[in-house]
Amino acid sequence: MKEEVVIGLEIHIQLMTKAKMFCQCSTNYIGKEPNTNTCPVCLGLPGSLPVLNRKVLEFAIRTAVALNCKINQVSRFHRKNYFYPDLPKAYQISQYDIPLGINGYMEISLPESKEKHRIRITRVHIEEDAGKLVHEGDIASSSHSLVDYNRCGIPLAEIVTEPDFCSPEEARIFLVKLRSIVQHLGVCDGNMEEGSMRCDANISLRDAKTGALGTKAEIKNMNSFKAVKKALQFEVDRQKKLLAEGEKIVQETRHWDESKNVTVSMRSKEEAHDYRYFPEPDLLPLKVDLKMIDKIRKNLPELPEARRMRFIKDYQISEYDAEILISSKELGDYYEKAASSYSNRKVLSNWIMGELIHYLNEEKIGIDDSPVSPEKLVGMLKLMDEGVISGKMAKDVFEKMFKTGKDASQIVKESGITQITDENELFKVIDNVIKENPKSVDDFNKGKEKALNFLVGQVMRYTKGRAKPDFVFEAIKQRIKK
Ligand code: ADP
Ligand code: ZN
Ligand code: MG
Repeated sequence: MKEEVVIGLEIHIQLMTKAKMFCQCSTNYIGKEPNTNTCPVCLGLPGSLPVLNRKVLEFAIRTAVALNCKINQVSRFHRKNYFYPDLPKAYQISQYDIPLGINGYMEISLPESKEKHRIRITRVHIEEDAGKLVHEGDIASSSHSLVDYNRCGIPLAEIVTEPDFCSPEEARIFLVKLRSIVQHLGVCDGNMEEGSMRCDANISLRDAKTGALGTKAEIKNMNSFKAVKKALQFEVDRQKKLLAEGEKIVQETRHWDESKNVTVSMRSKEEAHDYRYFPEPDLLPLKVDLKMIDKIRKNLPELPEARRMRFIKDYQISEYDAEILISSKELGDYYEKAASSYSNRKVLSNWIMGELIHYLNEEKIGIDDSPVSPEKLVGMLKLMDEGVISGKMAKDVFEKMFKTGKDASQIVKESGITQITDENELFKVIDNVIKENPKSVDDFNKGKEKALNFLVGQVMRYTKGRAKPDFVFEAIKQRIKK
């Protein structure tokens, strides 16, 4: 049987409101003493009542509208019941049969085709987050686990796609774009490593001939785009192998083990009826008036797609460069800040996409914390344009800037790595090199072009790389040409 890959994603994004979803507690819980960022509402103490934070609604509508969803003017909350120690109420307030947004889509472009691929968005709904279990030491041998409720009640938007992806790479491209969209919307920081954006991936194989969908597995616990792709690829191979052996795929939830690069079975998948959903009696149906939706729609900020087009038009950079630069809000902001005071936009994007991203990745630093600010990068590029440092020296200077946070002119001053701009000084070295290498001069005049490179190399050696190679090349040629 020939199979096709079928993938659908469920993504949770943490909404960056100041207060939690149904109480006044702060959403800023990172680094706080466990269980101090709580109140009777988010702990679910008897007698406490939830009140919806209007900002949560606004952020979720913004997200749904940006994903081309229809907004249900009346939606409602349901209780999703399950027992787990990180859930003090033993239910999560979520949305079920009538979510806030439905029937949207997002378009992604795949590198190998010119056409856009439309991914349908099934729904966007809002729900509260649970707390966190803290396992001390090795889970298997530890006698107990601790629970921290600080995250309880943090607002989430859940975005569910139709099973429209045909490959793990498509799923990855979608996630990168989605992250950029929510960052541009200002609703979520999109940090997968820290869990403010989380993705569950559903995957099955379909019989290419009949088109009949296969049984799917759900994979959890991937905390980077790369991990999502790797986990899905692993699952494709695993499922193909099972089918080839005549086995059946069981519907289950699988856990991605990053250290072993495998998925392992966690549990059989719950069915909706396991959750005993029922309408949340403590909250009224959620009514949104058209005016609010219109206002949000009108005030949507510039989204990545529009920004990409603007970059190509205004900065005259390639589609490829623009695509990378808008792939995160901060990266785009960094570029624009630098571009406002530097006119060679192509050189600028090369340095950002090359050196800067390289060092940021190596040191695992986000661009907002880059030791080289846009201003400092521009300062260095200007030294290069003025001929104070060569392109090659610039790479060293950049590395020093990154490691020390100093600006380029300071580094150049301290280490003396400037190009020799005094031509007389250069001519002295050049004449010496010519005198010392009569054979090379002779070779050149007999037609051996390579001999000239050797002489240039000698000048570079004497000047410790501080001469301008083009200048030296021309100067030697002039002097020795018969
Ligand atoms: P469940 O009831 O198991 O939660 P849903 O129909 O609600 O399943 O779908 C959950 C997610 O799984 C969605 O993102 C959907 O696109 C995806 N999905 C559904 N069926 C399949 C399938 N056969 N293969 C891959 N993904 C699927
Ligand atoms: Zn609270
Ligand atoms: Mg479902």
